[in-house]
This record gives sequence, C-alpha cells and structure tokens, in this order.
Amino acid sequence: MAIIPCRQATLLICKKQERALTLRERFKLRAHLKVCEFCRRFLAQTEAISRAVRTMVAAESLMGEEKKRMEAALEGFMKS
Ligand SMILES: [Zn+2]
Repeated sequence: MAIIPCRQATLLICKKQERALTLRERFKLRAHLKVCEFCRRFLAQTEAISRAVRTMVAAESLMGEEKKRMEAALEGFMKS
C-alpha cells in the first residue's frame, strides 16, 4: 500500500480531533507517521492543543455551574 502524502496525513490528524477515524484511515495515518517525522510532530502538537481546548471548555462549564449556584444562593438569601 502506498504511503499517503503529508497533506492527506495532516487532514486525517485534524479529522481525528473531531471524530474517531475509520480503521482504514487509522491504518493509513499510522503508516505515514512511521516514515514522517514532520507529521508525528504535527500530531503531538495538535493533540496537545486539542487537550488544552477541552480542559478550557470543561473549566468554563464548571465556572458556569458555579455562577448558577451562586445566583441561586443569592436569590435564596434575598427571599429570606
Ligand atoms: Zn508527513
């Protein structure tokens, strides 16, 4: 099987952050990563960024919940 070009590999790496790759896609990507250091680095970077974004989103939703709790507590305080 021919190795896919970098352009296609980076595309798969980006796709991988949004949804699980198919078996075929994973296989193609893995074969490419074996021979291409650039894409290995790109994958590591992309995954680090995607992890950071997920952490940020989680922290934000946590903050949103905290705000709701504080508002509810304040409302209870005003009523009493
Ligand atoms: Zn590559």
